[in-house]
Amino acid sequence: MEDAAWDALGQIIDRLPAHIRDHRALFFSLHEGYTRFAFGCRLGPHLEPESVLHDMAHAIEFDGDLDHRAKHGRMMFGVPHKTIYGQWVDNYSDWTSTRREIRTFRIQEALTRIVGVEFDLDSSLRTMDYMGDWYLVPGNSDESRMRTMQEYYAGLPTPNESEMWAVLEKWLDKTALRLMNMVHGSRKLMYWNGVIH
Ligand SMILES: [Zn+2]
Repeated sequence: MEDAAWDALGQIIDRLPAHIRDHRALFFSLHEGYTRFAFGCRLGPHLEPESVLHDMAHAIEFDGDLDHRAKHGRMMFGVPHKTIYGQWVDNYSDWTSTRREIRTFRIQEALTRIVGVEFDLDSSLRTMDYMGDWYLVPGNSDESRMRTMQEYYAGLPTPNESEMWAVLEKWLDKTALRLMNMVHGSRKLMYWNGVIH
């Protein structure tokens, strides 16, 4: 990892409150997104440590509910879908997923403010056209959809700082518990297979 990226990650970690920074289940990786219960520092081909804040914001937006929102170490976003001729196809009826993403941006913005990195709302909102339900955002042009999203964002409550950290801590506590259960589970399996006596 390039020095600048290490510095940026170090700065973010330094500015986390102690109970988050020192949490035994807070992990980072060089992968993209949240994988193997670790917050990834990559965005496409680039190292971008700020992107860990996006996934931390998702964990908070999920209300710390790792039990229902993480599977195999990844986050589950719950895309509405149906099966047509055996094919899995998404089946959106409104712009629920884009709204969730915008709520995540609201939290991410608050986190970036705390740790002192930049957050560009408009360019983040402009990336929303990759969302599966983008075409359901009210508006008849890209600009009017952009306005709809900006209005939704502006109407969101200001996240409470200590509440955000408490919810992230809940996610991390559940991560620790999940990992512990996985270790115990595999020990049991080894026992059943006669490896451990
Ligand atoms: Zn996201």
